[in-house]
Amino acid sequence: MRKMMILLLTVVVCSFWLSNVLVLSGEKDVFYQGGTYAALYAGNYNQVATVGQIKEKGNFGLGVFDLLDGDMIVLDGKVYQADSSGNVTKVKNDAGVPFYEVVNFQVDSEKELGSVESIRQLYNQLDRFRKRDDVIYAIRIEGTFPQIKTAAFSRQYYPYPNLAEAAERQGVFHYENVTGTLVGFWLPDCVDTMNQPGYHFHFLSDDRQKGGHLLELEMEKGIGQFDEIVEMNIAFSGVMTTPLAGEQVLPTMITRQNGLSEP
Ligand SMILES: [Zn+2]
Repeated sequence: MRKMMILLLTVVVCSFWLSNVLVLSGEKDVFYQGGTYAALYAGNYNQVATVGQIKEKGNFGLGVFDLLDGDMIVLDGKVYQADSSGNVTKVKNDAGVPFYEVVNFQVDSEKELGSVESIRQLYNQLDRFRKRDDVIYAIRIEGTFPQIKTAAFSRQYYPYPNLAEAAERQGVFHYENVTGTLVGFWLPDCVDTMNQPGYHFHFLSDDRQKGGHLLELEMEKGIGQFDEIVEMNIAFSGVMTTPLAGEQVLPTMITRQNGLSEP
């Protein structure tokens, strides 16, 4: 009888432990998105979540701030704002965010990356390490960068311009010989206008003084970590997106991706 009790207790404890492990690992592999690119393109820069709420969903990711006031970097559970003057600051929990994408980063695989002379070469290298084209990858790269060029949106005022017009007034920064982290994602074609298919990285320097949306780079060496994500959760804006008068905004109109030779 006693043996039976011990066996029963063991089964109960084990199944409780197992269910918790499954739930926890499930939570770790969800891509949480707030807002959509379609809404951002059309100039909806209203808050979908606070920084505090985003921290509860993930410890790694990127986004922009309310009224497009700078680009967001989420790294190791801390949230940073790269503003259009070139300043990087840690953000308080009550700050608002109209677009974000975060995960609880879990390393599925790690690869040594060779030197690259352009963002295109980096993407080609990363393509070889992605096993699938139909899921999401969160990608963290620790690297040494002889050159890196970033951008940060500037705060917008009503009536809001669309994202293409706002991008024309973004701050652009060119740094040399820095070490830091690229925080980003690869998304499949099927995300369409909800988000942007392909790679998207934000940069944060090791000294936490430089950062922003990655435009171009040269990388001497790097370590890439990959987290394969098979679930996506989207929170839409609580504020209706009002199309701007007479404007149809297409993703191809966004001109953030300039080469190093561009101004
Ligand atoms: Zn970005």
